Amino acid sequence: MTRVAVAGFQHETNTFAPFPTTMELFERGGAWPPLTRGAAIPGRFRGLNIPLAGFLGACRHEVIPILWAGAEPGGFVEDAAFDAIASEIVEGAAAARADAVYLDLHGAMVTRRHMDAEAELLRRLRARLGVELPIVASFDLHGNLAPEIFELASAVAIYRSYPHVDMAETGARAAALLDAVLEGPVFKAWQHVDFLIPITAQSTRYSPARELYEHLPESPALSADIALGFPPADIPYCGPVVVAHAREQEIADAAAREIAERLLRAEPAFDSRLIGAEAAVARALAAPKGPVVIADPQDNPGAGGTGDTTGILKALVAAQAPDAVLSMLHDPATAASAHAAGVGAEIAISLGGSFAAYSTPLTGTATVEALSDGRFRFTGPMFGGSDADLGPVARLRLSGTGITVVVGSRRAQNADQEMFRVVGIEPADHAIVCVKSAVHFMADYAPIAREILFAVAPGANPCDLAAIPYRNLRPGLRLGPGGPLLPPARG
Ligand SMILES: [Zn+2]
Repeated sequence: MTRVAVAGFQHETNTFAPFPTTMELFERGGAWPPLTRGAAIPGRFRGLNIPLAGFLGACRHEVIPILWAGAEPGGFVEDAAFDAIASEIVEGAAAARADAVYLDLHGAMVTRRHMDAEAELLRRLRARLGVELPIVASFDLHGNLAPEIFELASAVAIYRSYPHVDMAETGARAAALLDAVLEGPVFKAWQHVDFLIPITAQSTRYSPARELYEHLPESPALSADIALGFPPADIPYCGPVVVAHAREQEIADAAAREIAERLLRAEPAFDSRLIGAEAAVARALAAPKGPVVIADPQDNPGAGGTGDTTGILKALVAAQAPDAVLSMLHDPATAASAHAAGVGAEIAISLGGSFAAYSTPLTGTATVEALSDGRFRFTGPMFGGSDADLGPVARLRLSGTGITVVVGSRRAQNADQEMFRVVGIEPADHAIVCVKSAVHFMADYAPIAREILFAVAPGANPCDLAAIPYRNLRPGLRLGPGGPLLPPARG
């Protein structure tokens, strides 16, 4: 029987984020499962919306689970952490004497030494296991995939939805691709497309991404995919790429070309939908009925945001919003002082704003309304069934206001209503619901939202790409749809 070694190594690196991603962040988990090894993997991942889980469910061969590691998006992955995890994967696959390898990867991981860390992992696997071994990988829709990824992998599958409700399904598609590779030669073609797309413009719930992705199953290729890329990454192959697989090279080439042309034709239609924070709050207050959901994409922890900026919160305070809830603000010190004071206590606060580049703390007093140890199970379409471990969490009512803030101890994107319910807040019951997220929140919040607004407040995930101080992008790349070319001499 064919033996397939399986491993996962997921990180989306924002090279502008002001903090590194350490081994500890992979080990302890948070919104993602903690680092898991070997025989513990099938039990922990079964039924979850994670590519590796989908692969395990669909694979018809003998599987040898090696390791799965993922951390919340953030700054550069430390090289020591990358080397340790990569080495476990490479040596684990070698020891398993596997006939094939499946990798659950993101595609936007960057270390100080490796601008395309997944390409480096594939290089090390090839060096150890040879060039012939079938290696199939799945990637996030936000992968910044360098040419070497496609040269070194036998075949790849990429998520087709944003919010990523199809992560497990993509793992299952990777299992089908592996079967195709085991049956006979599979040819690949890929084409990079030369404009960056802000993440709020990428949602597959809106045009033009919706139609681009709906078209993929109609391609004559065996399998065709698009990665739209992750813009806050200062690397040459930042941005979109199209890939197609077929039994004949000509078919793969034509399919990749056709999809790339569609993507280029769609360029003017990509819209980041951003409005100012004050304007968003004013519009929410004028709405006849809530909830109006206000997203804070530039401080999305799921894109490397610090999760503690106060821009939108201060706009709510300034507008004296009578009924607003916000989750989850990353502030371990305030969470700890709320836990020390207890429910019902009024405490002095200096909330969030720990990075002066983006915002300053909100000061004043607040009442501790509820406390939690931050352990709960997600129930929404993206993370449903997964267990969160966010450390001490507190629900604080800002004194003299109708504004309630959920404060947590580990950075986590709010893509699931349980991020409110953990401290007894039912989002549907409130007029204004603010989430630290860019797009993923829509999977769980769109069904309850009367209106969704994308508000701009300063943060580590800038959506105005022309303002980002890139130095390493490849020449010819446009900064945003219809945007300017990268100026030739930066820095
Ligand atoms: Zn993604």
